[in-house]
Amino acid sequence: MAQRLQGMWSRIIAIAAVAAFPLLPGVPEFWVTLGGYIGLSSLVAIGLVLLTGVGGMTSFGQAAFVGFGAYTTAVLTTQWGMSPWLTLPFALLSTGLMALLIGVVTAKLSGHYLPLGTIAWGISFFYLFGNIEQLGRYDGISGVPPFSIGPYSLINSRAVFYPIWTAVLIAVVLSENLLDSRMGRAIRALRGGSIAAESFGVDTARAKLVVFTFAALLAGVSGWLYAHVQRSVSPSPFGINAGIEYLLMAVLGGSGYVLGGVLGATIVTVLKDQLQNLLPKLIGTGGNFESIVFGILMVAVLQLARQGLWPFILQLLPQAAPKAIDAAAPVLTHREVPSRGTPLLVIDKARKQFGGLVAVNDVSFTVNGGDIVGVIGPNGAGKSTLFNLLTGVLPATSGQIYFRGERIDGLPARGIAGRGIARTFQHVKLVPSMTVLENVAIGAHLRIRPGVLASMLRLDRDEEKRILAEAARQLQRVGLGEHMHKPAGSLALGQQRVAEIARALCLDPALLLLDEPAAGLRFNEKQQLAELLSRLRAEGMTLLLVEHDMDFVMRLTDHLVVLVFGSKIAEGTPAEISANPQVLEAYLGGVE
Ligand code: ADP
Ligand code: MG
Repeated sequence: MAQRLQGMWSRIIAIAAVAAFPLLPGVPEFWVTLGGYIGLSSLVAIGLVLLTGVGGMTSFGQAAFVGFGAYTTAVLTTQWGMSPWLTLPFALLSTGLMALLIGVVTAKLSGHYLPLGTIAWGISFFYLFGNIEQLGRYDGISGVPPFSIGPYSLINSRAVFYPIWTAVLIAVVLSENLLDSRMGRAIRALRGGSIAAESFGVDTARAKLVVFTFAALLAGVSGWLYAHVQRSVSPSPFGINAGIEYLLMAVLGGSGYVLGGVLGATIVTVLKDQLQNLLPKLIGTGGNFESIVFGILMVAVLQLARQGLWPFILQLLPQAAPKAIDAAAPVLTHREVPSRGTPLLVIDKARKQFGGLVAVNDVSFTVNGGDIVGVIGPNGAGKSTLFNLLTGVLPATSGQIYFRGERIDGLPARGIAGRGIARTFQHVKLVPSMTVLENVAIGAHLRIRPGVLASMLRLDRDEEKRILAEAARQLQRVGLGEHMHKPAGSLALGQQRVAEIARALCLDPALLLLDEPAAGLRFNEKQQLAELLSRLRAEGMTLLLVEHDMDFVMRLTDHLVVLVFGSKIAEGTPAEISANPQVLEAYLGGVE
């Protein structure tokens, strides 16, 4: 993804610009103060970029977390006499705990319910802050001490500018590191829908909680700083209006780009300040008219530049070279392949009903190790549904499924992935904006697991190299090596299917399920695919595939299962099936 490649450049530019700003001769106090507020908002907006722009979860309630950070330090410094610097861990702790609590409930919400949920808690915390005696009710807490270094108080804006922007820079670096890691890929994959991510072992609920909590912590740090810059706290800056402004910053700046958050915070903060001066003069009366302008701005951005403004700036920056692949990185460990000819997958009366429709009707068959087994049948026969039962995407209505002797029906998709079943989807499920390489690397999610914190601190580089080298290897294996750095969405549909095979291979599966892998491929590409699948079989892989191209199926498979209207009507060798009168009548006769 372009933003990843720009990471280094964007950091250098950001650091230089920020450090120099208050030092520039003649920068008025006013602008330095505004710069400080931009930094405070940037922290929140960066969190929202990750949460909303990257993770696809819209939150209007982020200002409440700013409030948690601010009130925590205000109480601890004014009532407990703690030094401002020392309250940071407590501010993080209170914000983090609250985020985990809210996150467990809210992050499960989907569609419109999540934004509505965030509005609900955004509003409730505003009233909570305003109704607690110890927090000074709606008057808030005043007399919060400033930061100090030795005998020096950081009272003026030039002095507090540096702690604020140090925090912003740390946030930018941690966020970009997070995105450029195993967990980051998982978070980015949330946008592509949870089915594909879960099928490769991503715990999507955990990924959501990680990004939700991280975003809240950034907001908490912003609040902690704010309390000591402002020297007082009261509920009004932490209400729903502020929450909407923060969201506008993230959307306006560039909802997928970390530095877009900083850009958005800059534009909105400056604009708000200017509008508050200008609008009353234009209109003649006071009031929060800037909200109207912001509303119009939000709609305009969503209509005209969905990615926000950062992409326009990206175009002006030099393009960094694509990520180097370290072919010498130690290879990931391999799973032992099952022995040839022994039952690997046993399906026993698997059944799936959708209301009154029996999509899979008590289907039983066995897949032996080292075979390529084909499932054929007309459209709507239940082939894809069968795959969904085998991979835990859908629960079976009844029946049992065994893999390597272990019962797997009832396991979640990521549990089944962990046991060595990988799949491709009939309707391609790649994340179009991620590179082919990054998409394929998600397949290796379970094979090596650097921690989230280690990733943010860039201590995961060795593991990351191994994962990317593996992804590159699998892409070369399927013949897509030259396309690895392109966005997945830019490939032809047939190539995207093949990229899905590479992603599945990255899981190091013992059983590979392919749902119509040859659909959309040209003749040559089909030949190559058939060769690849034969090679995989020769290496000990077991394959189960759905395919409509009879030529392809008859030449490649060892065994065929025929489904019609959810029921198995025949199974046998390709020769037996093509001579079976029942099959010819029910299926082949009608189609070919
Ligand atoms: P195939 O892959 O063999 O073309 P499918 O497994 O996709 O067939 O579909 C089998 C039947 O189940 C079809 O009639 C389809 O409409 C129905 N079906 C599939 N998925 C669902 C679902 N999630 N809800 C309801 N009906 C479904
Ligand atoms: Mg299908």
